[in-house]
Amino acid sequence: MTTNKVLNARVSDKLYEKISDKAKKNRTTVSNLIRNLVEDALEIHEDFHEAVDKKIRKYLSETEKQDILGYQEMVLVKDTECDNCGMLLKVSETAYFAFFEDRDVKAILCATCKNESLQPEKTKAHENTSNK
Ligand SMILES: [Zn+2]
Repeated sequence: MTTNKVLNARVSDKLYEKISDKAKKNRTTVSNLIRNLVEDALEIHEDFHEAVDKKIRKYLSETEKQDILGYQEMVLVKDTECDNCGMLLKVSETAYFAFFEDRDVKAILCATCKNESLQPEKTKAHENTSNK
């Protein structure tokens, strides 16, 4: 791995001492220690992100919206929230299951979010025509 970028971060004296002590104990440089810590932290974060992704995060990303295959209407028998905008959906209201192309999970959307995602996407259509 090339390490030619420099990151500067302000830390308290106390934190610097801790980092410096830890580096000495591990017989490494402060720079190496920080790099390893950040790498670990980001990997953990990614794993966590993926785990949440499987359950469907709140607020769908644009990519996720594009992956929606279709909707199934349902009448709620429990209060829940829209997975996209977080709006409270109450018992007996209509909500929509969003089915994705590439996975088994489903998202629950309110009518507003469902209708928004049905709007044609100009950029996407343009890409499709220019590629063929
Ligand atoms: Zn919504």
